[in-house]
Amino acid sequence: MRSEPVEGVGATGVLYLVSTPIGNLEDITLRALRILKEVSLVAAEDTRHSRKLFSHYGISTPLTSCHQHNEAGKGEQLLATLLEGRSVALISDAGTPGIADPGYRLLCRCLEAGIEVVPIPGPSAVITALSVSGLPTDRFTFEGFLPAKKQARLAQLAALQQESRTLVFYEAPHRLLATLKDMAEVCGESRLAVVARELTKMHEELFRGTLAEALERFSSARVRGEIVVLLGPAPSIEEEPTETVQEALLRLHRETGLTRRQLVKRVAKDFGLPGDEVYRESLSLPELGKD
Ligand code: SAM
Repeated sequence: MRSEPVEGVGATGVLYLVSTPIGNLEDITLRALRILKEVSLVAAEDTRHSRKLFSHYGISTPLTSCHQHNEAGKGEQLLATLLEGRSVALISDAGTPGIADPGYRLLCRCLEAGIEVVPIPGPSAVITALSVSGLPTDRFTFEGFLPAKKQARLAQLAALQQESRTLVFYEAPHRLLATLKDMAEVCGESRLAVVARELTKMHEELFRGTLAEALERFSSARVRGEIVVLLGPAPSIEEEPTETVQEALLRLHRETGLTRRQLVKRVAKDFGLPGDEVYRESLSLPELGKD
C-alpha cells in the first residue's frame, strides 16, 4: 500500500487529483474521502456543487474554485500554496479531474515546478460506459465532445469513419439527436451504437442497437440527462478473394452451365477485371467448352 506523505513534513505539499462520483454519491473511495478531509485546501470546479458531496460526508476542508475560466490565474495561487508545504486536492463536478474537465494546466504547472502529483482514482463516465457497453473494450479511443457546429462535426466523424477501435464520445442531451443523425450519415445506419444516459443515477439507461434503432429511440421525446455515446468498430474492409480467376471460372462452370463467354463476363464483373484479361485466362481451361 502506498503511504501518503504527511502534510507539512515535506518541503512542498502534494497535489492530489481526486475522482468523485458521476451521479451516485456512494461511488467514492475511502481513500478519496480521507484525502479530502486531510488536505489544507480543495480546489473545485464549482464549489456550490461540491458542497453537496462535502456535507453528505461531513467534510469541512476549505473549498476554492478552479474552473476553465480561472485555471491559469488560480493555478499560480494553488502552486504558491503547494510550494509553502500545504497539500491541495483538485476535484471536478463529476468523475476524474482533467478528463474533459479542468486540471490539465494545473497538473503541467505543478510538474514543471517539481511538485509531487498523486492520483486518487475513481469513477469516470468514459470507462463506466465502455465497461457495460457490450462493445469491444480491448482497444478504444476517447474523443471527448464532438464540435457543436454541424460541418465541423461531420468532418471529425468522417476522419473517424474507418476507425477499428470502439469510439467513445461525451454529448449534451440537446445535441444527441443531431449527433446520431450525423453519425448515421457518415458511418451508415447499421453501425452499432450505445447510448449510456444518466449512469449510476435513478434514471440510468443503456440503449444498445444500430444507429437506425438509436435514431428511432431518441427522436420521439426530449432527451434529458448526461450522455455518453459509443460507436462500434467500423466493419473490416472486404477480405481478399480466396479463389483465383481460373478457380472461379471452373466453379461457376460446374454450378451454372453458362457458356465460356457468359462465364468470362460474370467473373470479370465479380473480380472487377477487364473481360479480355479474364478471357485470356479462360483459354487454358478446355473444360469450359466452346464459346
Ligand atoms: N470528468 C468527467 C469524467 O471523468 O467522466 C467528465 C466531465 S464532462 C464536463 C461531463 C460529461 O461527461 C457529460 O456531458 C457527459 O457526457 C459525461 N457524463 C458525466 N457523468 C455522466 C453520467 N452520470 N452518465 C452519462 N454521462 C456522464
